[in-house]
Amino acid sequence: MSDLARKLFGDDVPTKMLALIVDLDETICTNFDCPIREAVAVLVRIDRQKLAVHYVTARMDVSRDGTDRFVMEHRLPGWRNVHYCPKWQGSRSHKAQVHVHLAREHRVIASVGDTDEEEGEAARLAGVPFVLVDRDNAVPAWVAVHELIEAVNGFVRHG
Ligand SMILES: [Mg+2]
Repeated sequence: MSDLARKLFGDDVPTKMLALIVDLDETICTNFDCPIREAVAVLVRIDRQKLAVHYVTARMDVSRDGTDRFVMEHRLPGWRNVHYCPKWQGSRSHKAQVHVHLAREHRVIASVGDTDEEEGEAARLAGVPFVLVDRDNAVPAWVAVHELIEAVNGFVRHG
């Protein structure tokens, strides 16, 4: 663990898998499949053995093919972990429920999203730190996420 991670977690080495929760629309892409560069640049460097990425989205099952294509095309981690919104459920309640579930099973380092009333609220309910993406400037949010991942040594090291 890094020094910062030790400061955050004390001497308790996390026994649960580390996880990052990420929204899709206006968080890692715009117009369904147009990538937000800063987001993709951070996500592709994640060490998948150390940090599981879970996508929690208002998208429903009908969007599965296009979503899979986007995730594959940009080599994003966690392609198995896309949590679609069931037809019968509102997106706020879906996101809240999945956040709580994931927070129980993992040590979630952050939830990243562009909508405070949806994923922000879900993160607070689950006791998970929330990073709000500004739709006009995604850079600060992804710099913050980068630092959080760095703090848990969650990137693949090269060289
Ligand atoms: Mg969104």
